[in-house]
Amino acid sequence: MSTPPSTVIEVAVAVPLDRTFHYLVPPGMVERAVAGHRVFVPFGHRRLTGYILGTVEGISGDKLKDIIEVLDSDPLWTPNELDFFRWIASYYLYPLSEVLKTALPAGINLQSKKGAQGVNGEIAGGRSIKRERFYRPVDGPEPQRQPGSKASEILDVIREAGDIPAGDLRRRFGQCTSQLHRLAELGLVQAEEREVYRNPFGEEPIERDTPRALIRHQADALGSIISELDQRLFTPFLLHGVTGSGKTEVYLQAIAHALQQGSNALVLVPEISLTPQLVRRFRARFDDPIAILHSGLSDGERYDEWRRIRRGQARIVIGARSAVFAPLERIGIIVVDEEHEASFKQADGLRYNARDLALVRGQMEKSVVVLGSATPLITSLHAVEQGKLTLLTLPERVEGRPMPTVAVVPMQGIKETVSHQLALALQETLAAGEQALVFLNRRGFATFLVCGDCGEPLTCPNCSVTLTFHRQRRQSVCHYCDHAVPSPGVCPACNSFEMKELGAGTERVEHELRELLPDAAIVRMDSDTTSGKGSHNRLLKRMSDRTADILIGTQMIAKGHDFPGVTLVGVINGEASLNMPDFRSSERTFQLLSQVIGRAGRGEFPGRVIVQTLNPSHYAIQNAVGHNGADFFRQELEFRREAGYPPFAFLASLSFSGVVEKCVEERAEETARSLHAMKKEFRLRIEILGPAMAPLYRLRGRFRRQILLKALTRNDLRRLVSSWQARRETSATVRETLDIDPVDMM
Ligand code: ADP
Ligand code: ZN
Ligand code: ZN
Repeated sequence: MSTPPSTVIEVAVAVPLDRTFHYLVPPGMVERAVAGHRVFVPFGHRRLTGYILGTVEGISGDKLKDIIEVLDSDPLWTPNELDFFRWIASYYLYPLSEVLKTALPAGINLQSKKGAQGVNGEIAGGRSIKRERFYRPVDGPEPQRQPGSKASEILDVIREAGDIPAGDLRRRFGQCTSQLHRLAELGLVQAEEREVYRNPFGEEPIERDTPRALIRHQADALGSIISELDQRLFTPFLLHGVTGSGKTEVYLQAIAHALQQGSNALVLVPEISLTPQLVRRFRARFDDPIAILHSGLSDGERYDEWRRIRRGQARIVIGARSAVFAPLERIGIIVVDEEHEASFKQADGLRYNARDLALVRGQMEKSVVVLGSATPLITSLHAVEQGKLTLLTLPERVEGRPMPTVAVVPMQGIKETVSHQLALALQETLAAGEQALVFLNRRGFATFLVCGDCGEPLTCPNCSVTLTFHRQRRQSVCHYCDHAVPSPGVCPACNSFEMKELGAGTERVEHELRELLPDAAIVRMDSDTTSGKGSHNRLLKRMSDRTADILIGTQMIAKGHDFPGVTLVGVINGEASLNMPDFRSSERTFQLLSQVIGRAGRGEFPGRVIVQTLNPSHYAIQNAVGHNGADFFRQELEFRREAGYPPFAFLASLSFSGVVEKCVEERAEETARSLHAMKKEFRLRIEILGPAMAPLYRLRGRFRRQILLKALTRNDLRRLVSSWQARRETSATVRETLDIDPVDMM
């Protein structure tokens, strides 16, 4: 007697363990228990959700438990996508089930349930699927009607439309449920519940746009991309084009080519809600369906977009970093716009970098990957020299527009926030009917209060930072934990009433500019003025429809915007980001300044820029001001080589935090000791730095320490970190986080 062979599957169970589990599939479920589906499984005494990775051969099912239920009717992922997620789990040393959970849109994940009951209902009901009632006319004999009655008019509209959502009828006729019931009873119309997608674009109308005739450099770049698209092989490009050189136009035409070939396109951007213009340009250019994915969507909207993509109903996906997980098939091209942006790195949970993962996914999908930037990462430029990325260059702005002229104003010993030169330039610009941007890097240099008697600054009791003074709110606020105190109040150290303002925030600049230019229409854009939904758009719109003369803002205004009316850009404190305790501070400063400078003179008239700074001779500032990317790259690369930082080393950081300082300190010390021991044991070439106090030593009431690992090979780094993970015991009092390729060093 032979029993039929049993089916064994590999399942990533939703627990934070970096291993997978085997289960047995009861005969009745075999057909549906395939890779990409979620399952409900027994796990210890609990029942949990898991993700099927595939069937396994050659394993005895004797000791295995049965799965309880297959949860999805269609697979969530293709085998290709599952391979991608396995790669991610192994690279970031993160549990696969957690990777899969991160890759799913919020709202789709089931909580673990005590019993299997309710599970079916929950999936079928699809909590977040939106349904709408539609009405359709039914063919039949013409009934007797009361001409002019509401019901009769409704019937005409339904017949005319052929098919109409109930919401539209209500908008037109007001409350009309009873009439619709009556019409349905008479068999004249039929109601139907249908699944609909929420529309994240709103009702904004879009004007059609056609491809531009390319200038020579654009045409060369496009030619190279297209010939690789035709080969259908993985080819990674770095599109290095100065601001306003027409990179987006190259993306658009390359994507058009991929679509023609029947492939799809994935476009990653730093933050969509900050760059609505880019999405608009895509919608204006393509008739093909576009899906967008970013953090500004509601859970429902995101889930809808995800399903549209999974079902092959979107040809182009545009999204922020999480879009790198989009369930898009047949990807012909992946574009990463502004590849240098730090926001491609996820700051908690699975700390992936979407720019890096775009290359991995491109390799797996055999797609062309285009990383675009006016200020590429040092590591990208280095990769070009190593032959790992193919360089495409757009050295000029389109239509022969000149790069702006830049003047540096040294600010040592100057009391005013807005220099005489900048004030004069602003007056001239407004007199000519043109617009200006005034940029302020607030990080680490905000307005804060200092006691005039004892000299103590007003600091946060929970975090090691000064509180930022907000004049309008009459409060001092911590930008990390939101702790707020009425201000200006008394000095907590000596009870003096002599609290003085120091530093310059956006609010202070706005205040000064209003005094200097009483007739100017000034708007301010920072996290205080943009917390409401759509507020970004409204502020940006005032610049594009030219009802505003001057836009003051933080980093938010430095990026991607294209305001043809802006001919002057003022930078208040060009050196602020240099003071960050981070090996990338020069690179960031150079990028930020170059980007801000690039906002000037993008239209008909040439632009000029005034950079105020306390550090006019620093190479990051000098090279940004001189539009000199090549020299900056040389100098910065030399610094990285000498100091042993990427691209000459591979980094991982371990952070420890907790409310009891001593516990954090001991735990970090203990970890460092065991790391040193393992390093010796395995003979690894790794530098173990720290534990040191994190630059933000206290954050939201927690003390923070960190260890930085610097390795010459990725293998050594992996070996050490995974051994540490395998041997450590979790601590009840200290939270530990691992960050592979850390970007935030604070
Ligand atoms: P980038 O993405 O490099 O900053 P954009 O693609 O936004 O540059 O181009 C800057 C401006 O020039 C946009 O207004 C764009 O429509 C326009 N533009 C781009 N390419 C061309 C071209 N070949 N001919 C005319 N205008 C162009
Ligand atoms: Zn005091
Ligand atoms: Zn705080």
